[in-house]
Amino acid sequence: MTCCEVIVEIAHENVGHVFTYRVPDGLSLLPGTRVLAPFGSRTVEGYVLRLKDGPGDVPPEKLRTILRALDSYPAILPALMDLAAWLCEKAHCLPVEALRLMLPAQMRGERVRVKTAQWAHLTAQGEALEQALAAARRAPRRAEILRRLAQGDQPAAQMRALGAGALQTLCRQGVVTLYARETLRRPAASGFQAAPEAPLTDDQCRVLEEILPAMARGEGRFLLSGVTGSGKTEVYIRAVRAALADGKGAIVLVPEIALTPQMVGWFRSRFGQDAAVLHSRLSAGERYDEWRRIRRGDARVVVGARSAVFAPVERLGIIIVDEEHEQTYLNDHHPRYDAREVAQRRCEQEHATLLLASATPSLKSFSRTMPHLRSSLGPLTLLEMPRRVLGRPMPRVEIVDMRQELARGNRTVFSRALDQALRECLARGEQAMLFINRRGYSTFVSCRACGQAVKCPHCDISLTYHRAEDMLRCHYCGHEQPPPRACPACGSPSIKYFGAGTQKVEEALRQRFAGVPSVRMDVDTTQGKDAHAKLLDTFRRGEARVLIGTQMIAKGLDFPHVTLVGVVAADTTLNLPDYRSPERAFSLIVQVAGRAGRADTPGRVIVQTYDPDHYAVRAAARQDYRAFFETEFDRRRRGLYPPFTRLARLLVESADAGAAQRTAEALAEALGAFVSGDPALSRQVVQMRAMEAPVKRLRGRARWQVFIKLYARGPTPAILEKMDELAAREWRGAAVCLEVDPANMA
Ligand code: ADP
Ligand code: ZN
Ligand code: ZN
Repeated sequence: MTCCEVIVEIAHENVGHVFTYRVPDGLSLLPGTRVLAPFGSRTVEGYVLRLKDGPGDVPPEKLRTILRALDSYPAILPALMDLAAWLCEKAHCLPVEALRLMLPAQMRGERVRVKTAQWAHLTAQGEALEQALAAARRAPRRAEILRRLAQGDQPAAQMRALGAGALQTLCRQGVVTLYARETLRRPAASGFQAAPEAPLTDDQCRVLEEILPAMARGEGRFLLSGVTGSGKTEVYIRAVRAALADGKGAIVLVPEIALTPQMVGWFRSRFGQDAAVLHSRLSAGERYDEWRRIRRGDARVVVGARSAVFAPVERLGIIIVDEEHEQTYLNDHHPRYDAREVAQRRCEQEHATLLLASATPSLKSFSRTMPHLRSSLGPLTLLEMPRRVLGRPMPRVEIVDMRQELARGNRTVFSRALDQALRECLARGEQAMLFINRRGYSTFVSCRACGQAVKCPHCDISLTYHRAEDMLRCHYCGHEQPPPRACPACGSPSIKYFGAGTQKVEEALRQRFAGVPSVRMDVDTTQGKDAHAKLLDTFRRGEARVLIGTQMIAKGLDFPHVTLVGVVAADTTLNLPDYRSPERAFSLIVQVAGRAGRADTPGRVIVQTYDPDHYAVRAAARQDYRAFFETEFDRRRRGLYPPFTRLARLLVESADAGAAQRTAEALAEALGAFVSGDPALSRQVVQMRAMEAPVKRLRGRARWQVFIKLYARGPTPAILEKMDELAAREWRGAAVCLEVDPANMA
């Protein structure tokens, strides 16, 4: 008797997840196939885990039978079944939660919607066709339809356009039949086309000479550190082409698809139908159809955001992670995973090559290229492209000290240098980008008399003023309120608006440069489905002369007419209360600066800051990654920050502040007892304490945390296992979750 083990689609901690079923005669199943199975009094979906010869120790009266298979093929490839098993362990999630990551949402619960269109087919052949043609001699529309269909099936809509009545008659006569044919929904194309292929630069050649042989051997873990404009995209394209030539597929991960229309455009124009796109802004139908094109092997190149790391590419040749330093690769909610680590695991399993790439590699990845520093993730081979293509110069970066501007009485968002540079740039008919890492008008509103900032009533967060709607908004929970006429704390009427956001820069630009068309890109202007692409297209076509934006405009854009980039306030990133803020500031400045002067006109960059001597700002101005790395690495070592240590926290949230505090203290005590019983463990822990989270309140809930810092040796330290176990317990009146190396420490 053939039986199979099935992972059932029930997310419940207390239900075993693997059940044995009998496979009905005549049904042949493979692991990874979705099935319908009886479960209690219900019918549930499940995934075949493995087949076996008998029911094992399941008693015959308990053994139930699979109802049917949901697809004619395994929806989950064997390699992805293995990856899911690994992820389950790693992310402490249920098997079914890991499997869900591998399928488009349309394949679960609700029925799969395949989109179809009606097509017309000529059934009459030979003599019957002769007769039909003879009968249509005095009916030119019918004759035309027959003539067209004789060349092959056509969409019914097109035939109807030739003559709806005529088509009907032909159908009635049995000469033509209509049938439903599946149509595939394809994501809209962007306006970005790949540049014509040019001979590779020396740097590109050298790098590919290392990557291609490794690919042929099915190995290689690379970190490509290439300055902005060094032509990394062309390296990706050549590597992917080599994979295809070898009968293999490729996955290219980008931080966020909407922000990298260029990468998608380039891959589509070079690889045509062979390229699929996967990301969250596609409609459910588009995502499902792209997924099926990949699963069938019709599209062997996948460009997508982090979840595309699970794309069903068979015979994988390479995974490329572009802008590998980006935080968006970390999935910060359950099941938590880092797409870069998943990519590496997948490459190991499937004998594929891993290529991480960036102009500003993460400290974590770069330190893995140093032979003397050992990481639990293993070493990476460093590849460098230190020059821009065609001998183009790196942009010239000037730092402007905003304290001096203030001393000279300039209170506006534009320093004199930036104002002057903008004038010159516009006069030459070129384009400019202005970068400011805050949306809204002013970043906070506070009282001149008592100094209190106006905060969100639900969160411990200052409200941001949005001028267009004349509203204060909380960027965490979305709360909105009109600006107060008097201070809520002391009643004084002198409320002042501080700090600049994108809206303020936009207004300042309008005032000083009347009539210069600009576009603003931030969360507020990019809500619609294709909003990003439309705004970028306006700028690319030259209909706007200045692009103002948040970090949305920092990445991967290549606009040849941009010769000036202004970083309006470098300090917004620098001063975040997070040990990574220098790394983020460095990377942002370098990335934005890299947008300038990418074609034949040299670029100029102006960085405005109140902290002009900061090492991150200075190194960014010189575009000197090595210098930044060395200073920052040393600072991390001395301050015992990652990668020298690991950080984790148990985050406690509750509507009741007392309960949050009590729970955090109880957790700290339990952990303390666990650690003090074991001298080896105690030596591992650098710091451990219960305290209020940096953001004390969020969405009306009080937040506490038990924060720990560990020496980073060993794979999964026992203390993390213990924290995980504590988080899973029931805590009265409070929710507890474990975050290891969180992307955000708020
Ligand atoms: P990066 O991602 O490294 O910042 P891109 O891949 O966007 O750089 O390439 C920058 C520019 O250089 C693009 O306009 C691209 O068309 C051009 N380019 C790339 N490779 C070559 C080459 N071998 N010869 C000439 N131009 C190139
Ligand atoms: Zn709020
Ligand atoms: Zn006040």
